[in-house]
Amino acid sequence: MSNAKKKFLGIMFDCCQVYARIYPNAAGTHYEGRCPRCRRTLKVRIGGEGTGQRFFRAQ
Ligand SMILES: [Zn+2]
Repeated sequence: MSNAKKKFLGIMFDCCQVYARIYPNAAGTHYEGRCPRCRRTLKVRIGGEGTGQRFFRAQ
């Protein structure tokens, strides 16, 4: 069990003005995470349209 990838997306959650990291889901199709304050879920497609960037702003 040592094949864990250190892949993540840095997210600035505009809803609460807080920074957090989200990680790929099991299927590896999306980054999934939630705002640490309001628990809002966020899903970002991996390799999809316009999100090749490492830092992302959630509005
Ligand atoms: Zn929030």
